[in-house]
Amino acid sequence: MKFTLLQWHTSTISPVLDGAETRYYDLIWSQEYYHKPDAFWELPKWAGELSYCLDKNRVYHTFRVLRKVESLKCDIAFGSVLDSNKMLYKQLATVNKNVKFIFGGYIDWEYFSELDNVYSVDSIEDCCKMFGWEYHKGVSWTLFKGEKCIPRITLSDGCRHRCKFCTIPNKVNAMPEYYIDVQIEALKDLDFELIYVDDKTFGQCSNYTELNRIKREVDRFNDKFKGFIVQTTATTIPKIDWDKLPVYAIEVGVESYNDEILKEMRKPASVRTIDKAVRVILDAGIKYIPNIIIGLPSETRHTYLSTLNHLLGSDILHANVYSLAVYDDAELSGEIDKKSEHDGDETTQFKSYNTELKNKIDKTAYELIIECLIKKLK
Ligand code: SF4
Repeated sequence: MKFTLLQWHTSTISPVLDGAETRYYDLIWSQEYYHKPDAFWELPKWAGELSYCLDKNRVYHTFRVLRKVESLKCDIAFGSVLDSNKMLYKQLATVNKNVKFIFGGYIDWEYFSELDNVYSVDSIEDCCKMFGWEYHKGVSWTLFKGEKCIPRITLSDGCRHRCKFCTIPNKVNAMPEYYIDVQIEALKDLDFELIYVDDKTFGQCSNYTELNRIKREVDRFNDKFKGFIVQTTATTIPKIDWDKLPVYAIEVGVESYNDEILKEMRKPASVRTIDKAVRVILDAGIKYIPNIIIGLPSETRHTYLSTLNHLLGSDILHANVYSLAVYDDAELSGEIDKKSEHDGDETTQFKSYNTELKNKIDKTAYELIIECLIKKLK
């Protein structure tokens, strides 16, 4: 039996970005130590995890990047389905009736109901059960050998906060030591200078000091390694002794530089705590990356200007600017009358539940912020 892991090339599934967005992302990825793989924004974690299990069960497998719907030369194909690629996967399964497709993802599987060669699984463990393989929690990047990237590593999952727009579970779990070691070992196949720590709120779990050990281990096989990028909240930052950690940059969930909006979204931050966090970050010689959300319900022209002023007045490496995605499991979803798929998409500003005026304000704010950031980063 021939097993293949599939992934659509980013350019096949992404909407064509307008000129300003493309220029902005190009600027971010041209920064020192930043490397983006050609085919995707980042290495597909599901593929690394499944590949690890297949290796452990001695199942030979390959990886294939798809740019169009085509005929596959395998018996079993695995893929991760999203709303943005489900149409392509449906076409692929339709023209490859002889291939059995095993899909994971968070979509409504009714979409594939007329295809009897498509099966869905809830997890990698579930997938292993389906084939009678033993499940092993780990990751392997051998399919991506030599890939230039910013790989991820996970020390914990969950977050203790309860921001209204977020779906991260509230219980914080430390990853077992062996799993951290497996992740370090897997990094040997990759070409990188920075590692992104996937923990949702870095510092909440006591094992965050593991960064020093991981740095020592990685230094043994990668003399280009510069340090870690972590993400956390403004209120956590002053509680950590950053001088003792090999952190290159910190992403801070600023979202909006306005107290009323932060309070309304139950974000554990205020303008005052954000300012304090930025001082701590810069004093420690670390780069500051604010994360911004466009489209929060009470945003106005005035509040967007406040956020823009913060971005322009701060010493930032760059900013991550997303549009609000209202996920079904988020508390905010209960307060909003969602009517369109785009309401859960963080790449589009137009939302079906907004008034025409609010959509216009959000879109204008997004475009203005991107244009200003381009000028600032140049
Ligand atoms: S702090 Fe971040 S991860 Fe935690 S609930 Fe809020 S948005 Fe989610």
